[in-house]
Amino acid sequence: MGKYNVDKMGFYGNYGGAYVPEILYKTVENLKDSYEAIIDSDEFKKEFHDLLRDYVGRPSPLYYARRMSGKYGCQLYLKREDLNHTGAHKINNALGQILLARKMGKTRIIAETGAGQHGVATATVCALMDMPCTVYMGALDVERQHVNVERMRMLGAEVVPVESGNKTLKDGTNEAIRDWCCHPADTFYIIGSTVGPHPYPELVARLQSVISEEIKWQLQEKTGRDYPNWLMACVGGGSNAAGTIYHYLDDERVKIILGEAGGLGNDTGMTAASLQTGTTGILHGSRIKLMQTDDGQIVEPYSISAGLDYPGTGPMHCNIYETGRAQVLSANDDEALRAAYELTRLEGIIPALESSHALALLPKVAGQFKKDDVVVLTVSGRGDKDLDTYLANKDKIK
Ligand SMILES: *Cc1c(COP(=O)(O)O)cnc(C)c1O
Repeated sequence: MGKYNVDKMGFYGNYGGAYVPEILYKTVENLKDSYEAIIDSDEFKKEFHDLLRDYVGRPSPLYYARRMSGKYGCQLYLKREDLNHTGAHKINNALGQILLARKMGKTRIIAETGAGQHGVATATVCALMDMPCTVYMGALDVERQHVNVERMRMLGAEVVPVESGNKTLKDGTNEAIRDWCCHPADTFYIIGSTVGPHPYPELVARLQSVISEEIKWQLQEKTGRDYPNWLMACVGGGSNAAGTIYHYLDDERVKIILGEAGGLGNDTGMTAASLQTGTTGILHGSRIKLMQTDDGQIVEPYSISAGLDYPGTGPMHCNIYETGRAQVLSANDDEALRAAYELTRLEGIIPALESSHALALLPKVAGQFKKDDVVVLTVSGRGDKDLDTYLANKDKIK
């Protein structure tokens, strides 16, 4: 294991760990002690990879974006997670975790969701595997993400609106943890990003690492070299970024650029850039950088992109930010909107608003690129779900 991977105690440098209530201690220990042997087994690997191929549609293409390359003075390749079944990278993780749950003898699945994307991915794999599924979602998010709620219900999941707190993602997560505390023996909690108590951040990163596994051989085929000069991705909790960088973490020839959601601007308080504006604390079982008051109360993050407004960022990313392994920048709402229109017009690809936050960094970092530099940017999802937002804001694009 390299120096940016998790250590035996579940930490990435100063971040991570497993701060869980006593009632969950045994459940989390059990997961920690069994997940590696299971996901490293030939049986699991075959089942996972067969489904990634036949059900998710992997490998996702690595696409050379000719016009964008010309514009930004580099060799830009897009890793097309937007082409996966259900429209984003989240299905890779949900599928891996439900296979793990079955191997561990669990019979019931719970999940939290904010924008609804992870809820849909989880409900999807529960339908596939014929397992009962309960999704906790803040009541305000239930209203805002109506289409995804109907999707989950059509897939057979029970969606529970959570009325506590601000009625958003953090409250949905709290309620999922409460459920888990009541049913630790039969229930598996499918967490949607590289967050939560150890071993979840590492488990999710491992399951998403299929992204960089594919980038390696796809780059070898296309450029004759299995590594890029630059990797770029957006960060909410951190899972698509973790998947993109996983197999290059210790390869210092490869520079990493991560994009947080700056909302209306990091100095306005209306932001979701928790790495750049947050402070260290404990949230959902893990020591991370998060947005909080001096008293340790969570500050509601803001971004135009529902998938990026988690109040913290996973421990792996906190560590690579702090140690300087990754450059972390933010893109504001308007910059992300502009980037989405640009990719649409130059390449005919309508990206998710979340992914647009990675694209929006290109004009900010292009000065660091040399013409022959290979840049791989992960398009984490497709923009169908964001069409209303794109149309409502089209006069902001000049
Ligand atoms: C959920 C989501 C994200 C943010 O989550 P990460 O765990 O940071 O990857 C990014 N893009 C899309 C399309 C999403 O659905």
